[in-house]
Amino acid sequence: MAVQKHVIVVGAGIIGASIAWHLVRDGARVTVVSADRGGGVATPNSFAWINASWGNPKPYFDLRTRSMAEWTRLAAEVPGIPLRWCGSLCYDLPPDQLEDFAREHGGWGYGIRRVDAAEAARIEPALARPPEQALHVAGEGAAEPVATTLALLADAERRGAVLRMTTPVRTLTLESGRVVGVLTDEGRLAADEVVIAAGTGSSELLAGIGVALPVETPPGLLVHSKPHAPLLNGLVIGEVAHVRQTAEGRIVAGSDFGGAEPGADAAATAQALFAEVRAMLAGADNLALDFHTVGYRPTPADGFPVIGRPAGTGGLYVSVMHSGVTLAPAVGLFAAAEILSGERSGLLSPYGPDRLG
Ligand SMILES: Cc1cc2nc3c(=O)[nH]c(=O)nc-3n(C[C@H](O)[C@H](O)[C@H](O)COP(=O)(O)OP(=O)(O)OC[C@H]3O[C@@H](n4cnc5c(N)ncnc54)[C@H](O)[C@@H]3O)c2cc1C
Repeated sequence: MAVQKHVIVVGAGIIGASIAWHLVRDGARVTVVSADRGGGVATPNSFAWINASWGNPKPYFDLRTRSMAEWTRLAAEVPGIPLRWCGSLCYDLPPDQLEDFAREHGGWGYGIRRVDAAEAARIEPALARPPEQALHVAGEGAAEPVATTLALLADAERRGAVLRMTTPVRTLTLESGRVVGVLTDEGRLAADEVVIAAGTGSSELLAGIGVALPVETPPGLLVHSKPHAPLLNGLVIGEVAHVRQTAEGRIVAGSDFGGAEPGADAAATAQALFAEVRAMLAGADNLALDFHTVGYRPTPADGFPVIGRPAGTGGLYVSVMHSGVTLAPAVGLFAAAEILSGERSGLLSPYGPDRLG
């Protein structure tokens, strides 16, 4: 009988949770070690739009659309994932660029429909000024990021994973150039392989063993309203703001999906953005700002994910990215397969860690 591989996953955001869940489902012994209480650091501050929208080169589009398909599979396998394929109304580009996007991504099979103002108003009746021209993408959606991450962790635990939350990893432990575990304040933990899914904390952990991973951390501000009666049917990717309504009725918005630049006075930026969002929506007179968040996007230096084993260091797997909400199901599936069987999905080919070294 094959010996069960023990994998430590460092990080309990949406990426670590998905990798841990897929590993334990596929037969590994898994320990999740995380500094936070579970749910992540960037993850709770995410707009959580699941998409393969404009600006993606074809290989990245292919990875994203594959992950969109994997979302449906994951939500069927894990109880309690709040996923909604609510569609999006997109008009955050000038008309010629919107048309280029429709032609290119439509040609790749992305389900894009051109809509006029009357149709936009039918799709989103609460828009005060429906756009003259927009694109509707029925296959996009959102998953509430913290609830999803906690559902993955809970189901991983139910399947046998051990969760060690509020346990920061101080350093990775090396033996003869191979990672053999992690060192925490509670002591040393040994493993056959260690996965670094530590978001913006990943570079520091890797630097400690001489592995360079340049990660930028651009901030993104989102405003969150108090819960409100239904206003929006789906995502509105508008020119002024990107907006959606959460499962609990909050309107969440940023000036783009990555969130607004917070500026010197984040509270003032939030007030100004919220005023613009309220003006976008008819029937939102009672909509009240509850709070704002500023998150830091874990963004590898060239903007694309880093997923895989750095050359020259055994026992180590790295998984760091922006768009982690979109990508979590495919990344979890592919990372678990590579760790357990050595087979690497062709969709990950452009995203190995060594390209940035
Ligand atoms: C404003 C904003 C909007 C976004 N919008 C979208 C969007 O619309 N769609 C989309 O797909 N993506 C979006 N993203 C990106 C997405 O949220 C992230 O890519 C994703 O949340 C990253 O998840 P993660 O698990 O890698 O990181 P995190 O959630 O940051 O989790 C990292 C984990 O590592 C742990 N950790 C760190 N260091 C250590 C250590 N030394 N020891 C132990 N544990 C450690 C932390 O405690 C945490 O649990 C957005 C991000 C932001 C900030």
